[in-house]
Amino acid sequence: MTKIAVVPGSFDPITNGHLDIIERAAKVFPEVRVAVMNNSSKNPLFTVEERMALISAVTSKFPNVIIDSSSGLLIDYARSVKASVIVRGLRAISDFEYEMQITSMNRMLDESIETFFVMTKNQYSFLSSSIVKEVARYGGDISLLVPPEVEKALQEKYEGK
Ligand code: ADP
Repeated sequence: MTKIAVVPGSFDPITNGHLDIIERAAKVFPEVRVAVMNNSSKNPLFTVEERMALISAVTSKFPNVIIDSSSGLLIDYARSVKASVIVRGLRAISDFEYEMQITSMNRMLDESIETFFVMTKNQYSFLSSSIVKEVARYGGDISLLVPPEVEKALQEKYEGK
C-alpha cells in the first residue's frame, strides 16, 4: 500500500522551515501532498494560487511532492486523496498546545489517519511566515529564511518591484 502523507498549512508564504519539513516527509513517504488550506480566519498576503505556485517552484526537485489546496476540513481532504498520514512541523513548546488540540480533534473525526510530527532544524525554530513578512515589509534581509523565489515575491508585494 502506498502511504500518502499530507503536509497541510497556510504557507503564506512558504519558508525554509516549511521546506525542511516537506523535504524530510518526502524522504519517508512515497507520496507527499502539500495542501494549502484556505479556511483559516487569517488574512493572507498571497492568494492560494500564488502560494501554490511558490511551493511548486521550490519543491520541483522532489518528484514525489504534489501541490494541492483545500477549503474544507483537513480530515476530509486527507480522506479524499486516500492519505493515511498528516505531517506537521514542531518548532517550540509554544506550538505544542495548538498542535495537540488539532491532532486530538482530527483523531476524533477519523481515527484511521495518524498525525506525525517532525521537529524543525534548530536554525528554523524561530521562523514563521508572519515574522518573515514583518521583516520583508520593512526591507530587512530575509535571504537566509526563505528560498530566492519567495524573497522576490515578497519584495514585489511590498515594494511593487
Ligand atoms: P498553519 O496555519 O496550519 O499553522 P503554517 O503555514 O503556519 O500553517 O504552518 C504549516 C506547518 O508547518 C505547521 O505544521 C507548522 O508547525 C509548520 N511550520 C511552520 N514554520 C515552521 C518552521 N520554521 N519549522 C518547522 N515547521 C514549521
